[in-house]
Amino acid sequence: MTARLVIMGPQGAGKGTQAARLAERLGVPAISTGDIFRANIKGGTELGVLAQSYTARGDLVPDSVTNDMVRDRLAQGDVEGGFILDGYPRNAAQVTELDAILADRGVALDAVVELTADRDVLLERLARRAELEGREDDTPESIARRLDIYAEQTAPLTTAYAERGLLVRVDGIGAIDEVTERLVAALDDASVPGAV
Ligand code: AMP
Repeated sequence: MTARLVIMGPQGAGKGTQAARLAERLGVPAISTGDIFRANIKGGTELGVLAQSYTARGDLVPDSVTNDMVRDRLAQGDVEGGFILDGYPRNAAQVTELDAILADRGVALDAVVELTADRDVLLERLARRAELEGREDDTPESIARRLDIYAEQTAPLTTAYAERGLLVRVDGIGAIDEVTERLVAALDDASVPGAV
């Protein structure tokens, strides 16, 4: 059974955590563009050097860089049985690029999950994560910038996916297990293969 999913949601909504849990459940890789950038920054690669100034500020890395990176990742063998994309697409141009990448491979998305949460809850969670993980981009300025970019550029993408009948909206507030169960049930309702 294959499942090709996108998971969207503002920073702090628990997207990364839920993507990893869902991926395990479905037996597909979770692909986080943020994680790929962070690994490259840590490793000092050319891609990392390029991305670092953008990620530190909370700005989007230019599409030309991000799109090529995702195209390469989705060409790898382990995604043939499906995938969960976490953190991509984040703007309209990336939606167009993802459509093209998938069309070139003769496949399509099964669903786009949006994890929702209030800004107050997000700010609280992000402040806690900043203390625990010490991520370079968890400064108050960068957090605010990322939430603004999400609201301006990423959240509107859900409308386009809803029009295609792909959008599954899930409340991201609650215990981690509870949210995972909600997610699995919502995907099952949407007839996504292998969710239950
Ligand atoms: P995340 O871990 O998803 O919050 O991503 C961390 C940072 O990586 C973001 O603030 C951006 O700087 C960069 N990034 C991740 N995904 C993308 C994307 N799809 N397009 C552009 N930049 C991205």
